[in-house]
Amino acid sequence: MTILLPLARSLSTAAVSPFRLAVVGSGPAGFYTSHRLLKDWPNTRIDMYDALPVPHGLVRFGVAPDHPEVKNVMTTFDKVAEDDRFRFLGNVTVGSDGIAVDELKQHYDAILFSYGASEDRRLGIPNEDLYGVESARAFVGWYNGLPRHRDLQLPLDQTDTAVVIGQGNVALDVARVLLSPLDELRKTDITEYALETLSKSRIKHVHVVGRRGPLQAAFTTKELREQMSLPGVVFKTDSEWVKSQIASVDLSKNRPLKRMMSLLEKGSPTKNGDKSWSLQFLRSPTEVIPNADGSAVEGIRYEINRLEGPFDRCKAIGTGEFETQSCGLVLRSIGYKSLPMEGVPFDERQGRVPNNFGKIMDKNDEELPGLYTAGWLKRGPTGVIVSTMSDAYETADTIVNDLKEGKPMLSPGKKEGADGLAALLKERNIRPVSYADWKKIEAAEFAIGAQLGKPREKFSRIQDMLDVLKA
Ligand SMILES: Cc1cc2nc3c(=O)[nH]c(=O)nc-3n(C[C@H](O)[C@H](O)[C@H](O)COP(=O)(O)OP(=O)(O)OC[C@H]3O[C@@H](n4cnc5c(N)ncnc54)[C@H](O)[C@@H]3O)c2cc1C
Repeated sequence: MTILLPLARSLSTAAVSPFRLAVVGSGPAGFYTSHRLLKDWPNTRIDMYDALPVPHGLVRFGVAPDHPEVKNVMTTFDKVAEDDRFRFLGNVTVGSDGIAVDELKQHYDAILFSYGASEDRRLGIPNEDLYGVESARAFVGWYNGLPRHRDLQLPLDQTDTAVVIGQGNVALDVARVLLSPLDELRKTDITEYALETLSKSRIKHVHVVGRRGPLQAAFTTKELREQMSLPGVVFKTDSEWVKSQIASVDLSKNRPLKRMMSLLEKGSPTKNGDKSWSLQFLRSPTEVIPNADGSAVEGIRYEINRLEGPFDRCKAIGTGEFETQSCGLVLRSIGYKSLPMEGVPFDERQGRVPNNFGKIMDKNDEELPGLYTAGWLKRGPTGVIVSTMSDAYETADTIVNDLKEGKPMLSPGKKEGADGLAALLKERNIRPVSYADWKKIEAAEFAIGAQLGKPREKFSRIQDMLDVLKA
Protein backbone atom coordinates (compact mmCIF):
# COMPACT_ATOMS: atom_id res chain seq x y z
CA MET A 1 0.00 0.00 0.00
CA THR A 2 2.65 2.50 1.08
CA ILE A 3 4.60 1.76 -2.11
CA LEU A 4 1.58 2.39 -4.33
CA LEU A 5 0.53 5.67 -2.74
CA PRO A 6 3.04 8.02 -4.47
CA LEU A 7 2.16 6.45 -7.83
CA ALA A 8 -1.55 6.94 -7.21
CA ARG A 9 -0.89 10.57 -6.24
CA SER A 10 1.19 11.28 -9.34
CA LEU A 11 -1.43 9.68 -11.59
CA SER A 12 -4.15 11.84 -10.10
CA THR A 13 -1.97 14.99 -10.50
CA ALA A 14 -1.27 14.15 -14.13
CA ALA A 15 -4.97 13.75 -14.78
CA VAL A 16 -5.74 17.26 -13.47
CA SER A 17 -5.14 20.07 -15.97
CA PRO A 18 -2.34 22.31 -14.81
CA PHE A 19 -3.01 25.73 -13.37
CA ARG A 20 -1.93 28.11 -16.15
CA LEU A 21 -0.66 31.50 -15.09
CA ALA A 22 0.44 34.39 -17.29
CA VAL A 23 2.91 36.73 -15.61
CA VAL A 24 3.17 40.24 -17.05
CA GLY A 25 6.62 41.65 -16.26
CA SER A 26 9.89 39.82 -15.63
CA GLY A 27 11.30 41.88 -12.77
CA PRO A 28 11.85 40.56 -9.24
CA ALA A 29 8.10 40.57 -8.49
CA GLY A 30 7.28 38.28 -11.43
CA PHE A 31 10.20 35.95 -10.76
CA TYR A 32 9.74 35.64 -7.00
CA THR A 33 5.99 34.99 -7.34
CA SER A 34 6.76 32.29 -9.93
CA HIS A 35 9.45 30.81 -7.71
CA ARG A 36 7.10 30.35 -4.78
CA LEU A 37 4.20 29.14 -6.87
CA LEU A 38 6.19 26.46 -8.68
CA LYS A 39 7.28 25.17 -5.27
CA ASP A 40 3.93 25.35 -3.48
CA TRP A 41 1.56 24.39 -6.31
CA PRO A 42 3.53 21.90 -8.39
CA ASN A 43 0.85 21.44 -11.05
CA THR A 44 1.48 24.95 -12.36
CA ARG A 45 2.55 26.18 -15.80
CA ILE A 46 3.84 29.71 -16.02
CA ASP A 47 4.32 31.90 -19.09
CA MET A 48 6.16 35.12 -18.24
CA TYR A 49 5.79 38.00 -20.70
CA ASP A 50 8.02 41.04 -20.93
CA ALA A 51 7.85 44.00 -23.30
CA LEU A 52 11.64 43.85 -23.70
CA PRO A 53 13.57 40.96 -25.26
CA VAL A 54 15.66 40.77 -22.08
CA PRO A 55 14.37 39.88 -18.59
CA HIS A 56 14.93 41.09 -15.00
CA GLY A 57 13.38 44.58 -15.08
CA LEU A 58 15.07 47.10 -12.81
CA VAL A 59 17.72 44.62 -11.71
CA ARG A 60 19.18 45.15 -15.19
CA PHE A 61 17.95 48.67 -15.94
CA GLY A 62 17.76 50.32 -12.51
CA VAL A 63 20.33 48.94 -10.06
CA ALA A 64 23.51 51.00 -10.26
CA PRO A 65 26.37 49.51 -12.33
CA ASP A 66 28.74 49.75 -9.34
CA HIS A 67 26.43 47.52 -7.25
CA PRO A 68 27.14 44.17 -8.96
CA GLU A 69 26.41 42.19 -5.79
CA VAL A 70 22.76 43.31 -5.95
CA LYS A 71 22.47 41.75 -9.39
CA ASN A 72 23.34 38.28 -8.06
CA VAL A 73 19.58 37.70 -7.75
CA MET A 74 19.68 36.98 -11.47
CA THR A 75 21.10 33.57 -10.56
CA THR A 76 17.91 32.78 -8.62
CA PHE A 77 15.86 33.99 -11.56
CA ASP A 78 17.87 31.73 -13.89
CA LYS A 79 17.01 28.76 -11.67
CA VAL A 80 13.30 29.58 -11.91
CA ALA A 81 13.61 29.83 -15.69
CA GLU A 82 15.35 26.43 -15.91
CA ASP A 83 12.19 24.75 -14.59
CA ASP A 84 10.43 23.11 -17.50
CA ARG A 85 7.07 24.29 -16.16
CA PHE A 86 8.19 27.87 -16.86
CA ARG A 87 8.43 29.75 -20.17
CA PHE A 88 9.73 33.26 -20.86
CA LEU A 89 8.26 35.26 -23.73
CA GLY A 90 10.29 38.43 -24.05
CA ASN A 91 9.66 41.05 -26.72
CA VAL A 92 5.90 40.74 -26.13
CA THR A 93 4.18 43.84 -24.77
CA VAL A 94 0.95 43.24 -22.92
CA GLY A 95 -1.55 46.05 -23.37
CA SER A 96 -2.25 48.31 -26.30
CA ASP A 97 0.80 47.58 -28.50
CA GLY A 98 0.99 43.81 -28.31
CA ILE A 99 -1.35 41.32 -26.71
CA ALA A 100 -4.46 42.73 -25.05
CA VAL A 101 -5.35 41.66 -21.52
CA ASP A 102 -8.65 40.26 -22.85
CA GLU A 103 -6.71 38.08 -25.31
CA LEU A 104 -4.49 36.76 -22.52
CA LYS A 105 -7.53 36.01 -20.38
CA GLN A 106 -8.82 33.48 -22.91
CA HIS A 107 -5.77 31.26 -22.59
CA TYR A 108 -4.98 31.30 -18.88
CA ASP A 109 -6.59 30.42 -15.58
CA ALA A 110 -5.08 33.50 -13.98
CA ILE A 111 -2.88 36.51 -14.72
CA LEU A 112 -0.31 38.12 -12.46
CA PHE A 113 0.39 41.77 -13.23
CA SER A 114 3.90 42.71 -12.14
CA TYR A 115 4.82 45.27 -14.76
CA GLY A 116 6.37 47.70 -12.30
CA ALA A 117 6.52 51.46 -12.63
CA SER A 118 7.86 52.74 -15.92
CA GLU A 119 7.20 56.49 -15.52
CA ASP A 120 8.16 59.03 -12.91
CA ARG A 121 6.50 61.73 -10.89
CA ARG A 122 6.94 65.26 -12.14
CA LEU A 123 7.60 68.41 -10.17
CA GLY A 124 4.74 70.28 -11.83
CA ILE A 125 6.66 73.57 -12.00
CA PRO A 126 7.20 76.04 -14.87
CA ASN A 127 9.88 75.18 -17.47
CA GLU A 128 10.19 71.56 -16.38
CA ASP A 129 10.49 70.46 -20.01
CA LEU A 130 13.51 72.65 -20.78
CA TYR A 131 16.65 71.05 -22.17
CA GLY A 132 18.79 70.06 -19.20
CA VAL A 133 15.87 69.05 -16.97
CA GLU A 134 15.41 65.29 -16.91
CA SER A 135 14.11 62.53 -14.72
CA ALA A 136 16.68 60.54 -12.76
CA ARG A 137 14.75 57.56 -14.17
CA ALA A 138 15.75 58.47 -17.74
CA PHE A 139 19.36 59.13 -16.71
CA VAL A 140 19.53 55.77 -14.91
CA GLY A 141 17.94 54.04 -17.93
CA TRP A 142 20.44 55.77 -20.21
CA TYR A 143 23.59 54.67 -18.38
CA ASN A 144 22.14 51.19 -17.84
CA GLY A 145 21.32 50.59 -21.52
CA LEU A 146 17.51 50.82 -21.47
CA PRO A 147 16.58 51.04 -25.18
CA ARG A 148 13.96 53.72 -24.55
CA HIS A 149 16.61 56.12 -23.23
CA ARG A 150 19.52 55.11 -25.44
CA ASP A 151 19.60 58.46 -27.21
CA LEU A 152 19.04 60.72 -24.20
CA GLN A 153 20.80 64.07 -24.60
CA LEU A 154 22.13 65.78 -21.49
CA PRO A 155 24.30 68.91 -21.20
CA LEU A 156 26.99 67.11 -19.18
CA ASP A 157 29.76 68.86 -21.12
CA GLN A 158 28.19 72.30 -20.81
CA THR A 159 27.95 72.84 -17.08
CA ASP A 160 29.83 72.08 -13.88
CA THR A 161 26.80 72.03 -11.59
CA ALA A 162 23.94 69.54 -11.35
CA VAL A 163 20.97 69.62 -9.01
CA VAL A 164 19.18 66.42 -8.04
CA ILE A 165 15.74 66.98 -6.60
CA GLY A 166 14.86 64.30 -4.05
CA GLN A 167 16.77 62.58 -1.29
CA GLY A 168 16.27 58.85 -1.79
CA ASN A 169 18.67 56.12 -2.89
CA VAL A 170 18.04 56.78 -6.59
CA ALA A 171 19.12 60.41 -6.05
CA LEU A 172 22.35 59.19 -4.45
CA ASP A 173 22.89 56.64 -7.26
CA VAL A 174 22.79 59.36 -9.90
CA ALA A 175 24.91 61.77 -7.83
CA ARG A 176 27.49 59.00 -7.36
CA VAL A 177 27.60 58.13 -11.07
CA LEU A 178 28.03 61.81 -11.94
CA LEU A 179 30.99 62.17 -9.55
CA SER A 180 32.66 58.74 -9.64
CA PRO A 181 36.13 58.40 -11.15
CA LEU A 182 35.77 57.07 -14.66
CA ASP A 183 38.26 54.28 -14.00
CA GLU A 184 35.97 52.90 -11.31
CA LEU A 185 32.97 52.96 -13.63
CA ARG A 186 34.95 51.32 -16.44
CA LYS A 187 35.11 48.09 -14.39
CA THR A 188 31.32 47.90 -14.17
CA ASP A 189 28.63 46.98 -16.69
CA ILE A 190 27.81 50.65 -17.39
CA THR A 191 27.32 51.08 -21.14
CA GLU A 192 30.24 52.20 -23.30
CA TYR A 193 28.32 55.14 -24.78
CA ALA A 194 27.59 56.39 -21.24
CA LEU A 195 31.28 56.10 -20.36
CA GLU A 196 32.17 58.00 -23.51
CA THR A 197 29.75 60.83 -22.65
CA LEU A 198 30.76 60.85 -18.97
CA SER A 199 34.41 61.13 -20.02
CA LYS A 200 33.53 64.54 -21.48
CA SER A 201 31.44 65.56 -18.50
CA ARG A 202 32.36 68.83 -16.79
CA ILE A 203 30.11 68.17 -13.78
CA LYS A 204 32.02 68.86 -10.58
CA HIS A 205 29.32 69.83 -8.11
CA VAL A 206 26.13 67.95 -7.37
CA HIS A 207 23.52 69.34 -4.99
CA VAL A 208 21.04 66.81 -3.63
CA VAL A 209 18.01 68.80 -2.55
CA GLY A 210 15.09 67.85 -0.29
CA ARG A 211 12.03 69.68 0.94
CA ARG A 212 12.41 68.51 4.53
CA GLY A 213 15.38 67.86 6.86
CA PRO A 214 18.08 65.23 7.40
CA LEU A 215 15.88 63.16 9.72
CA GLN A 216 13.33 62.78 6.93
CA ALA A 217 15.76 61.89 4.11
CA ALA A 218 14.81 58.62 2.39
CA PHE A 219 18.26 57.27 1.48
CA THR A 220 19.86 54.49 3.47
CA THR A 221 23.15 54.23 5.37
CA LYS A 222 24.96 52.07 2.82
CA GLU A 223 24.32 54.51 -0.01
CA LEU A 224 25.21 57.53 2.15
CA ARG A 225 28.46 55.88 3.24
CA GLU A 226 29.42 55.23 -0.39
CA GLN A 227 28.66 58.82 -1.30
CA MET A 228 30.79 60.08 1.60
CA SER A 229 33.67 57.86 0.44
CA LEU A 230 33.86 59.10 -3.14
CA PRO A 231 37.53 59.86 -3.75
CA GLY A 232 38.35 63.54 -4.13
CA VAL A 233 34.77 64.64 -3.49
CA VAL A 234 34.15 67.09 -0.63
CA PHE A 235 30.84 66.93 1.24
CA LYS A 236 29.03 70.17 2.05
CA THR A 237 25.95 70.91 4.08
CA ASP A 238 24.71 73.35 6.68
CA SER A 239 26.45 71.34 9.43
CA GLU A 240 25.32 73.45 12.36
CA TRP A 241 21.68 73.22 11.41
CA VAL A 242 21.97 69.50 10.65
CA LYS A 243 23.54 68.93 14.09
CA SER A 244 20.79 70.91 15.78
CA GLN A 245 18.17 68.81 14.00
CA ILE A 246 19.81 65.58 15.12
CA ALA A 247 20.20 66.85 18.68
CA SER A 248 16.52 67.76 18.84
CA VAL A 249 15.32 64.14 18.88
CA ASP A 250 15.94 60.97 20.87
CA LEU A 251 17.24 58.38 18.41
CA SER A 252 18.25 55.78 20.98
CA LYS A 253 15.39 53.50 19.88
CA ASN A 254 15.98 54.00 16.16
CA ARG A 255 19.42 52.54 15.51
CA PRO A 256 19.40 52.67 11.68
CA LEU A 257 18.52 56.37 11.72
CA LYS A 258 21.01 57.02 14.51
CA ARG A 259 23.75 55.34 12.46
CA MET A 260 22.88 57.37 9.42
CA MET A 261 22.82 60.64 11.35
CA SER A 262 26.24 59.98 12.86
CA LEU A 263 27.55 59.41 9.32
CA LEU A 264 26.06 62.73 8.30
CA GLU A 265 27.65 64.48 11.26
CA LYS A 266 31.01 62.93 10.47
CA GLY A 267 30.82 63.94 6.81
CA SER A 268 33.42 62.95 4.25
CA PRO A 269 37.12 62.25 4.95
CA THR A 270 37.92 64.35 1.85
CA LYS A 271 38.31 67.92 3.00
CA ASN A 272 39.90 69.39 -0.12
CA GLY A 273 39.20 68.62 -3.72
CA ASP A 274 37.83 70.19 -6.85
CA LYS A 275 34.65 68.12 -6.77
CA SER A 276 31.87 68.38 -4.23
CA TRP A 277 28.43 67.15 -3.38
CA SER A 278 26.01 68.73 -0.98
CA LEU A 279 22.85 67.92 0.86
CA GLN A 280 20.51 70.88 0.86
CA PHE A 281 17.41 70.78 3.01
CA LEU A 282 14.13 72.71 3.41
CA ARG A 283 13.81 73.58 -0.28
CA SER A 284 10.85 73.04 -2.62
CA PRO A 285 11.49 73.81 -6.31
CA THR A 286 9.06 76.40 -7.63
CA GLU A 287 10.46 77.16 -11.10
CA VAL A 288 13.21 76.16 -13.48
CA ILE A 289 15.04 79.26 -14.72
CA PRO A 290 15.79 79.31 -18.46
CA ASN A 291 18.93 80.84 -19.98
CA ALA A 292 18.78 84.10 -21.99
CA ASP A 293 17.48 82.56 -25.22
CA GLY A 294 15.19 80.11 -23.42
CA SER A 295 16.94 77.08 -24.89
CA ALA A 296 18.23 75.43 -21.71
CA VAL A 297 18.19 75.47 -17.93
CA GLU A 298 20.31 78.06 -16.14
CA GLY A 299 19.07 77.69 -12.59
CA ILE A 300 16.34 76.62 -10.27
CA ARG A 301 14.25 78.59 -7.80
CA TYR A 302 13.18 77.21 -4.46
CA GLU A 303 10.80 78.24 -1.77
CA ILE A 304 12.45 77.86 1.62
CA ASN A 305 10.46 75.67 4.00
CA ARG A 306 10.16 75.26 7.71
CA LEU A 307 9.21 72.00 9.40
CA GLU A 308 6.04 71.50 11.36
CA GLY A 309 5.06 68.50 13.47
CA PRO A 310 6.88 65.54 15.07
CA PHE A 311 10.04 64.52 13.20
CA ASP A 312 8.69 61.21 11.85
CA ARG A 313 5.57 62.82 10.39
CA CYS A 314 6.60 66.41 9.91
CA LYS A 315 5.42 68.57 7.05
CA ALA A 316 7.35 71.11 4.99
CA ILE A 317 5.59 74.47 5.09
CA GLY A 318 6.58 77.22 2.66
CA THR A 319 7.88 80.36 4.34
CA GLY A 320 7.30 82.73 1.41
CA GLU A 321 11.06 83.24 1.09
CA PHE A 322 12.75 82.22 -2.14
CA GLU A 323 16.25 81.39 -3.32
CA THR A 324 17.77 80.80 -6.75
CA GLN A 325 20.58 78.37 -7.47
CA SER A 326 22.62 78.31 -10.69
CA CYS A 327 22.94 74.96 -12.45
CA GLY A 328 23.02 73.52 -15.94
CA LEU A 329 21.42 70.18 -15.18
CA VAL A 330 18.40 69.28 -13.07
CA LEU A 331 17.51 65.66 -12.40
CA ARG A 332 14.21 65.09 -10.65
CA SER A 333 14.24 62.05 -8.44
CA ILE A 334 10.97 62.22 -6.58
CA GLY A 335 9.65 58.76 -7.33
CA TYR A 336 8.64 56.34 -10.04
CA LYS A 337 5.06 55.94 -11.22
CA SER A 338 3.04 52.96 -12.52
CA LEU A 339 0.79 53.38 -15.52
CA PRO A 340 -2.70 51.93 -15.89
CA MET A 341 -3.22 49.07 -18.34
CA GLU A 342 -6.46 48.60 -20.25
CA GLY A 343 -8.49 45.83 -18.68
CA VAL A 344 -6.87 46.15 -15.22
CA PRO A 345 -8.32 48.29 -12.41
CA PHE A 346 -6.05 51.15 -11.38
CA ASP A 347 -6.20 53.54 -8.45
CA GLU A 348 -4.98 56.85 -9.93
CA ARG A 349 -4.73 58.50 -6.52
CA GLN A 350 -2.50 55.82 -5.04
CA GLY A 351 -0.79 55.04 -8.35
CA ARG A 352 -1.20 51.29 -8.05
CA VAL A 353 -3.52 48.41 -8.74
CA PRO A 354 -6.09 48.06 -5.92
CA ASN A 355 -5.59 44.70 -4.26
CA ASN A 356 -6.04 42.64 -1.15
CA PHE A 357 -2.84 40.71 -0.40
CA GLY A 358 -2.21 40.62 -4.15
CA LYS A 359 -5.73 39.74 -5.30
CA ILE A 360 -6.96 42.51 -7.60
CA MET A 361 -10.15 44.28 -6.48
CA ASP A 362 -12.70 46.11 -8.62
CA LYS A 363 -14.03 49.57 -7.82
CA ASN A 364 -16.71 48.11 -5.55
CA ASP A 365 -13.97 46.45 -3.53
CA GLU A 366 -14.95 43.01 -4.82
CA GLU A 367 -12.27 40.42 -5.64
CA LEU A 368 -11.74 39.87 -9.37
CA PRO A 369 -11.40 36.12 -10.06
CA GLY A 370 -8.04 35.08 -11.47
CA LEU A 371 -6.37 38.51 -11.41
CA TYR A 372 -3.37 39.14 -9.16
CA THR A 373 -0.60 41.67 -8.74
CA ALA A 374 2.84 41.89 -7.14
CA GLY A 375 5.80 44.23 -6.72
CA TRP A 376 5.86 47.95 -7.36
CA LEU A 377 2.56 47.80 -9.21
CA LYS A 378 0.94 46.23 -6.16
CA ARG A 379 2.26 48.38 -3.36
CA GLY A 380 3.58 51.50 -5.09
CA PRO A 381 7.10 52.18 -6.38
CA THR A 382 9.07 51.91 -3.17
CA GLY A 383 11.22 49.27 -1.59
CA VAL A 384 14.26 47.23 -2.45
CA ILE A 385 14.47 43.78 -4.02
CA VAL A 386 14.12 42.03 -0.65
CA SER A 387 10.86 43.84 0.11
CA THR A 388 9.66 43.07 -3.43
CA MET A 389 10.45 39.41 -2.74
CA SER A 390 8.37 39.31 0.47
CA ASP A 391 5.58 41.06 -1.29
CA ALA A 392 5.71 38.59 -4.21
CA TYR A 393 5.64 35.65 -1.80
CA GLU A 394 2.55 37.13 -0.20
CA THR A 395 0.82 37.22 -3.59
CA ALA A 396 1.93 33.65 -4.36
CA ASP A 397 0.42 32.54 -1.03
CA THR A 398 -2.84 34.28 -1.93
CA ILE A 399 -2.94 32.41 -5.27
CA VAL A 400 -2.21 29.07 -3.60
CA ASN A 401 -4.90 29.68 -0.96
CA ASP A 402 -7.42 30.52 -3.68
CA LEU A 403 -6.50 27.31 -5.51
CA LYS A 404 -6.81 25.25 -2.34
CA GLU A 405 -10.20 26.77 -1.61
CA GLY A 406 -11.30 26.13 -5.20
CA LYS A 407 -12.08 29.82 -5.76
CA PRO A 408 -13.12 30.69 -9.31
CA MET A 409 -10.37 31.67 -11.71
CA LEU A 410 -10.68 33.48 -15.06
CA SER A 411 -13.10 31.14 -16.81
CA PRO A 412 -13.63 27.40 -16.61
CA GLY A 413 -12.20 25.04 -19.22
CA LYS A 414 -8.84 23.74 -20.35
CA LYS A 415 -6.35 26.48 -21.21
CA GLU A 416 -3.45 26.29 -23.62
CA GLY A 417 -1.33 29.18 -22.39
CA ALA A 418 1.12 30.72 -24.86
CA ASP A 419 0.48 27.93 -27.41
CA GLY A 420 -3.02 29.31 -27.79
CA LEU A 421 -1.59 32.72 -28.65
CA ALA A 422 1.10 31.59 -31.10
CA ALA A 423 -0.98 32.26 -34.22
CA LEU A 424 -1.96 35.71 -33.00
CA LEU A 425 1.66 36.62 -32.23
CA LYS A 426 2.72 35.47 -35.67
CA GLU A 427 -0.06 37.40 -37.34
CA ARG A 428 1.10 40.54 -35.49
CA ASN A 429 4.70 39.93 -36.44
CA ILE A 430 5.74 39.58 -32.81
CA ARG A 431 8.73 37.30 -32.34
CA PRO A 432 8.84 36.09 -28.72
CA VAL A 433 12.27 35.71 -27.17
CA SER A 434 12.66 32.59 -25.03
CA TYR A 435 14.91 32.28 -21.99
CA ALA A 436 17.32 30.18 -24.08
CA ASP A 437 17.36 33.06 -26.58
CA TRP A 438 18.06 35.50 -23.73
CA LYS A 439 20.98 33.34 -22.63
CA LYS A 440 22.42 33.66 -26.16
CA ILE A 441 22.01 37.45 -25.99
CA GLU A 442 23.62 37.43 -22.56
CA ALA A 443 26.52 35.27 -23.78
CA ALA A 444 27.15 37.81 -26.56
CA GLU A 445 27.10 40.60 -23.95
CA PHE A 446 29.61 38.72 -21.80
CA ALA A 447 31.85 38.17 -24.83
CA ILE A 448 31.89 41.86 -25.77
CA GLY A 449 32.38 42.76 -22.09
CA ALA A 450 35.39 40.43 -21.84
CA GLN A 451 37.05 42.26 -24.72
CA LEU A 452 36.46 45.56 -22.95
CA GLY A 453 37.60 44.33 -19.52
CA LYS A 454 34.16 44.63 -17.93
CA PRO A 455 31.53 42.11 -16.75
CA ARG A 456 29.30 42.63 -19.76
CA GLU A 457 28.49 45.19 -22.41
CA LYS A 458 24.71 45.46 -22.63
CA PHE A 459 22.94 45.75 -25.94
CA SER A 460 20.94 48.93 -25.75
CA ARG A 461 19.00 48.64 -28.98
CA ILE A 462 16.24 46.07 -29.39
CA GLN A 463 17.34 45.29 -32.94
CA ASP A 464 20.87 44.51 -31.75
CA MET A 465 19.44 42.09 -29.18
CA LEU A 466 17.32 40.36 -31.81
CA ASP A 467 20.18 40.28 -34.33
CA VAL A 468 22.13 38.00 -31.97
CA LEU A 469 19.39 35.41 -32.49
CA LYS A 470 19.70 35.51 -36.26
CA ALA A 471 23.33 34.45 -36.12
C1 LIG B 1 17.30 53.35 -10.03
C2 LIG B 1 16.95 52.21 -9.12
C3 LIG B 1 17.96 51.58 -8.41
C4 LIG B 1 17.65 50.52 -7.54
N1 LIG B 1 18.66 49.94 -6.85
C5 LIG B 1 18.39 48.93 -6.00
C6 LIG B 1 19.43 48.32 -5.26
O1 LIG B 1 20.62 48.69 -5.37
N2 LIG B 1 19.11 47.30 -4.41
C7 LIG B 1 17.81 46.86 -4.29
O2 LIG B 1 17.57 45.92 -3.52
N3 LIG B 1 16.80 47.44 -4.97
C8 LIG B 1 17.04 48.46 -5.82
N4 LIG B 1 16.04 49.05 -6.51
C9 LIG B 1 14.64 48.58 -6.30
C10 LIG B 1 14.29 47.35 -7.16
O3 LIG B 1 14.77 47.54 -8.45
C11 LIG B 1 12.77 47.13 -7.13
O4 LIG B 1 12.39 46.81 -5.79
C12 LIG B 1 12.29 45.99 -8.04
O5 LIG B 1 12.93 45.99 -9.28
C13 LIG B 1 10.78 46.08 -8.28
O6 LIG B 1 10.41 44.94 -8.99
P1 LIG B 1 9.13 44.80 -9.94
O7 LIG B 1 9.18 43.43 -10.47
O8 LIG B 1 7.92 45.26 -9.23
O9 LIG B 1 9.36 45.87 -11.13
P2 LIG B 1 10.45 45.97 -12.28
O10 LIG B 1 11.77 45.53 -11.81
O11 LIG B 1 10.34 47.36 -12.81
O12 LIG B 1 9.95 44.96 -13.44
C14 LIG B 1 8.86 45.25 -14.26
C15 LIG B 1 9.02 44.54 -15.60
O13 LIG B 1 7.78 44.68 -16.33
C16 LIG B 1 8.09 44.90 -17.70
N5 LIG B 1 6.93 45.57 -18.34
C17 LIG B 1 6.54 46.86 -18.17
N6 LIG B 1 5.44 47.10 -18.90
C18 LIG B 1 5.13 45.95 -19.54
C19 LIG B 1 4.09 45.57 -20.45
N7 LIG B 1 3.14 46.44 -20.82
N8 LIG B 1 4.08 44.31 -20.94
C20 LIG B 1 5.05 43.41 -20.56
N9 LIG B 1 6.05 43.73 -19.71
C21 LIG B 1 6.08 44.98 -19.20
C22 LIG B 1 9.35 45.75 -17.66
O14 LIG B 1 10.06 45.68 -18.90
C23 LIG B 1 10.11 45.10 -16.50
O15 LIG B 1 10.93 44.06 -16.96
C24 LIG B 1 16.31 50.10 -7.38
C25 LIG B 1 15.30 50.74 -8.11
C26 LIG B 1 15.62 51.79 -8.96
C27 LIG B 1 14.51 52.47 -9.72
